[in-house]
Amino acid sequence: VNQSSEQIIINSERLKQDFEALAEIGITAGGGVHRPALSEADLQARRWFQGRALSSGLEARVDPAGNVSAYLPCAAPGAPALLLGSHLDSVPDGGRFDGALGVLAALEVLRVVKEWGITLPVNLEAIDFTDEEGTLVGLLGSSALAGRLTPNDLLSPRGGRDALLEGLDRAGLSEAGLLEARRPPAALAGYLELHIEQGPRLWRAGVQLGVVTAIVGIASYELTYTGRADHAGTTPMDERADAALGAAAFTLATRRLVTEAFPECVANVGRLALAPGAFNIVPAEARLALECRAPEAAAFERLKAALTALARTEADRFGLGLKIETLGEHAPAPLSPAAKGAIIEAAEALGLSYLPLASGAGHDAQSLAGICPAGMLFIPSVAGASHSPREFSEWVDCENGAQALLGAALRLAASL
Ligand SMILES: [Zn+2]
Repeated sequence: VNQSSEQIIINSERLKQDFEALAEIGITAGGGVHRPALSEADLQARRWFQGRALSSGLEARVDPAGNVSAYLPCAAPGAPALLLGSHLDSVPDGGRFDGALGVLAALEVLRVVKEWGITLPVNLEAIDFTDEEGTLVGLLGSSALAGRLTPNDLLSPRGGRDALLEGLDRAGLSEAGLLEARRPPAALAGYLELHIEQGPRLWRAGVQLGVVTAIVGIASYELTYTGRADHAGTTPMDERADAALGAAAFTLATRRLVTEAFPECVANVGRLALAPGAFNIVPAEARLALECRAPEAAAFERLKAALTALARTEADRFGLGLKIETLGEHAPAPLSPAAKGAIIEAAEALGLSYLPLASGAGHDAQSLAGICPAGMLFIPSVAGASHSPREFSEWVDCENGAQALLGAALRLAASL
């Protein structure tokens, strides 16, 4: 068979039936889903996915990191696998589309390739990555597969060590398995992921597809301003060392700085705690949790330096001490030009409008970026809502996204 890829059509009705069946697993009162990684609902979704793979005449596989795959082998011995996927786990009371759409569209691509008898030089694998959302560790399955997971990552995971061990036990997985799940880069032909945007840009612009250029880098800090506790009734206003003023001024100045000088970036003060914390005591200490995100390395470095300098400026202005502690940092992950090219060609051949954009959210693609050609396609999220039962995308956009994923996968496979 040698059809041009635009003649090969995904089965939208079948995809929709799968989507609706999956949305029943872990369904919540508000119409969302609750499938935290390796919870009973997540395990049920994974079993359901394996069942769908088998009933479609595909192989079902599970690797030592618990990544679950539908697998379509090619004829060439020793060929690498082109991975298509996303994740079936959700945040607590999350939406039906986040992750689920990408896994189901990947499964549909494999079914269509099989039905049309298309010969490819690569194996195709529709993969559900373990714990993308960070209930336990975050990007757990994809970083294990990419060989980026370290024993240290498992010692004090963000969801707590006990929760991790319980989840692994429930799923029949082990820490040793996670650390041995690395696949050699030669076994990976590439990775493509369809996902909802989770922000309002495509929806506002009325554009059908987003071609993801990079996944943002994220740095997180704890800032501590120190002043002096004093009687709030008797200490004159101009004689106070009020730690709250430094924190408040920094929070406002951060918004101004990022808006004016870093239009591609964001920053957030997500927690602010004052001590001692009483009506009648001038705050001696203000701790704040700061996070910033940037789509490329140079801007990331400038943003981090500018925020640090700003924090010091506000400390000096109010006569305060300042301690800055870095809690975590992930560099921006540029996605592959070959993958972007395949997505753009597919979008143009299908007559879909598209926009290049950076992802402000983390995704499994960042684990694979730099190891194999990795790319992502976004479809519009209505009103930008995500991580909420309000999350919604029009079905026609889901269908277009799946069709573009198919076109991009066939092009990327042919180029390898
Ligand atoms: Zn997701």
